[in-house]
Amino acid sequence: MKPPAFDYIAATSVEDAVAALARSEGEGKLIAGGQSLMPMLNFRLAGPAVLIDVGRIAGLDGIEETDEGLTVGALARHAALETSPGVAKHLPVLAEAMRHVAHLAIRNRGTIGGSLSHADPAAELPLMAVLLDAVLHITGPEESREVPAEEFFIGALTTDLEDEEMVTAVTFPYLPAGCGWGFEEVSRRSGDFALAAAAATLSFEGSVISEARLAVTGVDDLPLRISEAEEGLMGGELTEEKISAAAESVQASVNPNSDAQASADYRRHLIGVLTARVLRAAAARATGGGL
Ligand SMILES: Cc1cc2nc3c(=O)[nH]c(=O)nc-3n(C[C@H](O)[C@H](O)[C@H](O)COP(=O)(O)OP(=O)(O)OC[C@H]3O[C@@H](n4cnc5c(N)ncnc54)[C@H](O)[C@@H]3O)c2cc1C
Repeated sequence: MKPPAFDYIAATSVEDAVAALARSEGEGKLIAGGQSLMPMLNFRLAGPAVLIDVGRIAGLDGIEETDEGLTVGALARHAALETSPGVAKHLPVLAEAMRHVAHLAIRNRGTIGGSLSHADPAAELPLMAVLLDAVLHITGPEESREVPAEEFFIGALTTDLEDEEMVTAVTFPYLPAGCGWGFEEVSRRSGDFALAAAAATLSFEGSVISEARLAVTGVDDLPLRISEAEEGLMGGELTEEKISAAAESVQASVNPNSDAQASADYRRHLIGVLTARVLRAAAARATGGGL
């Protein structure tokens, strides 16, 4: 199918882009890599009066090591995160997650800002942003602001962004030294969106868990941190009992959909299995051993 007619503006700066959004009074849409928006236009699921192309804005595709963490420009591509030495060094769980995003051709076009703003409930990057306590940098016509990832995602394809705002970057705090991580996803075919995915990080002091993070996606309207499970993991060693309790806590916290790909019951079962796997993997990476 062909998209509906629209006006086209090639923005040359962030200021230019948000001014054009403000002028369009809710009828404008940014386009970056086009990997989500173009299918939506072609299927007539979106019909903006004006498309504002941010793809030519210079200087927004960097991956920079800062005191706060790794700051990734909105126009950095999924493939850039997948292959970045800085990501591999500081946030290997992020590099691993990016390998599960679609196919290489899509990872070469799709942008970080586009994926976060699109907020697909089964996408890997929003999951990573929530797991890693990322902060989004947002600019509007009047002011700029920073929003923690957990507050940014509100529902399926719904975020905290105002109509006239643009995501300009995201900062991922570094993982603590010695922190172990796990990422697991199941999809029907390689490159498909996840039926369910889980990710965890574990830090240890000796054999005692000093910090636990656990997040899931594909099993609710938005990516979720499961704080009850995290609290249950803290203190003491990682045992089979703790792993089972965490998996049960995750299964009780999520609200999966049934669709043509999988039933809600299957997704709930799956996320329990994936939770156990990511916890074992994180412990093994942190301690060199594992259960
Ligand atoms: C066949 C196929 C399989 C896919 N599989 C996966 C998958 O497994 N996992 C996954 O995560 N994704 C998957 N995707 C989606 C892909 O990752 C997209 O690239 C990504 O979701 C959107 O990035 P984009 O730059 O292409 O955004 P666009 O399509 O250009 O825009 C998407 C939305 O974000 C808005 N937007 C874009 N940039 C900004 C910005 N800087 N600030 C504010 N709003 C902005 C646009 O207005 C639009 O609403 C798949 C896509 C296809 C076509």
